[in-house]
Amino acid sequence: MSACAKSQEYGRAAMPLVIQKFGGTSVADADRIRAVADHIARTRRHGQDVVAVVSAMGRETDELYHLADLVSSTQPGRELDMLVTIGERKSVALVAMALADLGVDAVSFTGSQAGIITDNAHRRAKILEIRPDRLREALAAGRLPVVAGFQGMSQDREITTLGRNASDLTAVALAAALGAELCEIYTDVSGVFTADPRLVPEARRLRELSFEELLEMADTGSRVVAQRAVEYARNHDVPLHVRSSFTWEPGTMIKREYHGMEQAIISGVTHDESEAKVTVTQVPDQPGVAGRLFRALADSHVNVDMIVQNVASDGRTDISFTVPKSDLASAMEVARPLLDDLGAENVVADPGIARVSLVGAGMKSHPGVAAKMFETLSDAGVNIEMISTSSIRISCVVRGDFVEQAVRALHTAFSLSSPDGHAP
Ligand code: ADP
Ligand code: ASP
Ligand code: MG
Repeated sequence: MSACAKSQEYGRAAMPLVIQKFGGTSVADADRIRAVADHIARTRRHGQDVVAVVSAMGRETDELYHLADLVSSTQPGRELDMLVTIGERKSVALVAMALADLGVDAVSFTGSQAGIITDNAHRRAKILEIRPDRLREALAAGRLPVVAGFQGMSQDREITTLGRNASDLTAVALAAALGAELCEIYTDVSGVFTADPRLVPEARRLRELSFEELLEMADTGSRVVAQRAVEYARNHDVPLHVRSSFTWEPGTMIKREYHGMEQAIISGVTHDESEAKVTVTQVPDQPGVAGRLFRALADSHVNVDMIVQNVASDGRTDISFTVPKSDLASAMEVARPLLDDLGAENVVADPGIARVSLVGAGMKSHPGVAAKMFETLSDAGVNIEMISTSSIRISCVVRGDFVEQAVRALHTAFSLSSPDGHAP
């Protein structure tokens, strides 16, 4: 849609619309809030309409969850969501005030006021619909909306949250609903890097990336843009620009793959320490056993990720799978009582694992990436416990203590610091 056609939607002279999302570190204190307001005001002066989406200041959301832990072991979802949404409510009001000082007519909105309608699942609500009438009216009146990230209102008109790190999702969903040209994700690093720059200082910033690649990176532990936000951006074709709110320099563009786009064999190495491994030992090698186990896990909402069934010997086999650490206790509770029924020997929990992955669209057409990955890990003395692949990703489960070593060894072996690197 052209900028002109878009502006007619909210009935004012043509100004292309950009969504600017600021994460917790970007608004961590008063100075940061003034710097963010300054940047928003500058964008507006340069002829763009802006809708800002803001996270809670610094670690405030963690602190609110901690406070809940101190007073309650029940923590009803409704009350928890009422509590933690305060963080974003505070930061949007402060950003709007800082904008007012710069002469910008800004107006803050909660998720509910912004028309973000969700299902009734507290703590992990899904967006069902966006009714951005109030945002459109504000824009049409020349005002600048500042929207609280991470929250919405359920069909039952209760306050909900969309899951941890979901301000990214709020921003992308508003970009789609308002027909914005671009959704900018401002954070504390200057883009998407070939590995977490905190772990690999020589990691290189990527100029551009496809939705598919960023989705695999987000799926395998790179939290720079939340996984659900990338998925939403891909499904609604919302271009993303990940960049720094400290240096304001151009960062990484993420869009649909198009002909001529740089297709790196490997775009990055990711790691994830949030999962644990469960092994059910000595399972009879018979049809139906895996079905019964994984049906019971699914019915208990345990989120199973990788699965490996070892080769059977003596008609028996081990089945291992990974789950988020937060689901480990439930997975054990589901699996233990099933042992007799399955005819299995034991179930063992192992929280000491981590996953290291290589992601790259170009690996589809380049054989040898997996071989080189396994050789590199072996040379670094890292044992591989499980392997899984997609067409643009290879993941290995390793001991948690070895994951940083594994990331660095792979980053070096595939020459990811160099723009011409990554030959298998
Ligand atoms: P925000 O609070 O702005 O949402 P996050 O902490 O959620 O920020 O995400 C930014 C962090 O993501 C960075 O500080 C960085 O450590 C981490 N990160 C992990 N992997 C990558 C990567 N491949 N490229 C850039 N950042 C990454
Ligand atoms: N403040 C929320 C969180 O910490 C949402 C976000 O920052 O994206 O999870
Ligand atoms: Mg984030």
